[in-house]
Amino acid sequence: MKRRELIKGLAAGSVVGLAACKGNRTAAGPAAPAAAARREWKMYTTWPKNFPGLGTGANRVAELITKMSGGRLTVTVYGAGERVPALEVFDAVAQGSAQMGHSGSYYWKGKAESSPFFCSIPFGLTAEEMNGWLYFGGGLELWRELYAGFNLVPFPAGNSGTQMGGWFRKEINSLADLRGLKMRIPGLGGEVLARLGVTTVNIPGGELFTALSSGTIDATEWVGPYNDLAFGLYKAAKFYYYPGWHEPGSTLECIVNKPAYEALEPDLQAIVAAACDAVTTTMQAEMTARNQAALQELVGKHGVKLLPFPAEVLQALMKTSEEVVAASAGKDTFTQRVYASYKAYRDTVIENSRIGTQAFLNARSAR
Ligand code: CA
Repeated sequence: MKRRELIKGLAAGSVVGLAACKGNRTAAGPAAPAAAARREWKMYTTWPKNFPGLGTGANRVAELITKMSGGRLTVTVYGAGERVPALEVFDAVAQGSAQMGHSGSYYWKGKAESSPFFCSIPFGLTAEEMNGWLYFGGGLELWRELYAGFNLVPFPAGNSGTQMGGWFRKEINSLADLRGLKMRIPGLGGEVLARLGVTTVNIPGGELFTALSSGTIDATEWVGPYNDLAFGLYKAAKFYYYPGWHEPGSTLECIVNKPAYEALEPDLQAIVAAACDAVTTTMQAEMTARNQAALQELVGKHGVKLLPFPAEVLQALMKTSEEVVAASAGKDTFTQRVYASYKAYRDTVIENSRIGTQAFLNARSAR
């Protein structure tokens, strides 16, 4: 009994102590703490509203922030074109017309040469390797330094995993078959194909089906089976190539207007970061879980022809990718720093992946 009373007494004391710390006691008891400031944020995205994987990932960031903050910070998501076009998210958030955005950094190569390194570059890093560089290899610090110049704070917020090589209206049996094609492919991957005779363009995902089915483009990459099925790309092209050499593990970004972020209390800042971290995991999980079923539907139900790029094509893509990435790195001193960090990490992590994941996958696939 004595012990129970002691515990009861301690518990009561801790409550009183806590209330005393807050002050403003009245005769009726401790006053409620002052109402916390409530904020309503907008999130603009590059994806159609609720688009599988990418849009749903953006939704999860918003929902997590809203719930974890107990409604002190509520985030409303807008799909591409609802408030601003898909590829104007960066400028809109930088200027503060929305406090937050969800997109991919390689869309902003025209603004910052180094930006693709924070999303994906040809023959670069897988999702796991990319997370290692960003979180523990110095990548995120460099990304923050770059975006500070644009009035933005970036967070990794999702990863597509290794993408597919893309949809082609005709079969690709040699390098010669690539020449003269018009293909939608953003980032450095587009520059690689341009050197191999492809005319490359970048158009938002929501416009891909129309462009491909009307013949405005002959080929397009988008993401992977789950996302590509959702756009119905199989109705416009039948040849579906792998692997996604150009995007081995694309990090999606959540960008926050810098003054808006800095005005948050420290716990809300931590909540924003934690929500983005969570979605880095769950988006990749969603892609992994859904891609296989989508691929079966594409091949089994819609008659899609699934093909690997010929060895000759992949070898040329790799050699040209090295040239293009090195040329990009030479364009300005900041990109040189990013490239040096990325390359040093990639050179070492490749060996670890070779004897770890790669050796295991080879063993598991052996028949
Ligand atoms: Ca892509």
